[in-house]
Amino acid sequence: MNCSACVDAEHDPLVAEYRGDCEGCSARSLAYAPSFADSERLGRLTATYRSALRLTFADPLAGHQHVKRWAERIRSARQAPERGRQATNEVR
Ligand SMILES: [Zn+2]
Repeated sequence: MNCSACVDAEHDPLVAEYRGDCEGCSARSLAYAPSFADSERLGRLTATYRSALRLTFADPLAGHQHVKRWAERIRSARQAPERGRQATNEVR
């Protein structure tokens, strides 16, 4: 992880801060994208999601693994009520 938003997200995956030029941030924001949600629901990579991966990552498959890791962490962070919404609304 190489930017401050990614460092924050390591501690709190629900941090809603992204840098456009950072692959870690791109992976995190794609984990929230409807195209990723569709791909998960359908059990295959949709054309929209695939093209987002191609536009975002030099290595789309590695990027996809990265997105999945974040999606997993975001899901478990949401399931932990003690670190829920409040943490994301914190003023930084
Ligand atoms: Zn970042």
